[in-house]
Amino acid sequence: FIGLMLTACTAGETVSKAVPEKTPVVDEETIKIGFSMDTLKEERWLKDQALFKEAIEDLGAEVEIVAANGDDALQLTQAETLIQQGIDLLVIVPHNAEATAAIVHTAHRAGIQVIAYDRLVKNADIDLYVSFDNERVGEMQATAILDLVPKGNYVYIGGATTDNNVHLIKKGVFNVLQPAIDRGDIKIVYDQWTEDWSPEKAFLNMTEALAANNNQIDAVIAANDATAGGVIQALEAQGLAGEIPVAGQDAELAAAQRIVGGTQTMTVYKPIQTLTKQAAALAVRMAKGETVTTVRSVNNGKIDVPSILLAPIPVTAENMRDTVIADGFHTGTDVYGAA
Ligand code: BGC
Repeated sequence: FIGLMLTACTAGETVSKAVPEKTPVVDEETIKIGFSMDTLKEERWLKDQALFKEAIEDLGAEVEIVAANGDDALQLTQAETLIQQGIDLLVIVPHNAEATAAIVHTAHRAGIQVIAYDRLVKNADIDLYVSFDNERVGEMQATAILDLVPKGNYVYIGGATTDNNVHLIKKGVFNVLQPAIDRGDIKIVYDQWTEDWSPEKAFLNMTEALAANNNQIDAVIAANDATAGGVIQALEAQGLAGEIPVAGQDAELAAAQRIVGGTQTMTVYKPIQTLTKQAAALAVRMAKGETVTTVRSVNNGKIDVPSILLAPIPVTAENMRDTVIADGFHTGTDVYGAA
């Protein structure tokens, strides 16, 4: 490349101007991806962080990863810094589905494409969305719980309203529950979001739900394992842990342990490595200027976003070994303790 430039330039312009002396050719050609994460609070995001880096580097590209601790303003400035640093493409896990549209605009003005990772960015010309099928997550939770508790009082503990996934998950839950509600078989006695997915908030909400219903609750569906943990603590305080089925998602280690221990009924396992590999491969291809086409699309309020939605897997004590452990997501010793 440099050789060509030299020959081309010697004909006219001065050589020194056209070819900066110490430009390392390899660095110029290495694709650099920016990964802007909302948070590292839940256990899964540490896996996303490590596995995404590994996947990008396996492709011969580089990645710069930042995390915003759930702070919208910080996520914006971090993303702006990445853009200024000259990344070729931005992958983002939005804290706030709406607020991050500003980041997409800034990136596009700089000629940088943006992939929404795990969570959709709303009302922006996002280039691609790669996630799990979140509506299916909710359907799997509700199916598992409704099988066990076909009649009774249900509590729904949702996630953070700023996260588009929570609306999809809740839709999935009610796709399954609605017929039973309409028949009068089950009754939703408490339904609350959880600010910033906080387990402490979920604990307080569940405590409130129990008090308001004189502990007459038959089943709980929580939007993830962190909030399910808060729910189970509130049940424990009433001596009810293990008596009332509880659903979560993420297959966090603590949740897997609660499932084999009998205080949580199920979780939804999302193989993070499949997500990181897909997202990394597509990010690098797009950064190289390739056009990526998908079979599905999801409307984000502005456009139909080309989307890849991977399949989640419901996990109970019965299939724990065949799923989470077989995949190496957790070890048998970690889940069951040493023999
Ligand atoms: C993710 C979940 C996660 C939650 C809280 C959601 O958008 O899909 O896996 O537990 O955010 O971080």
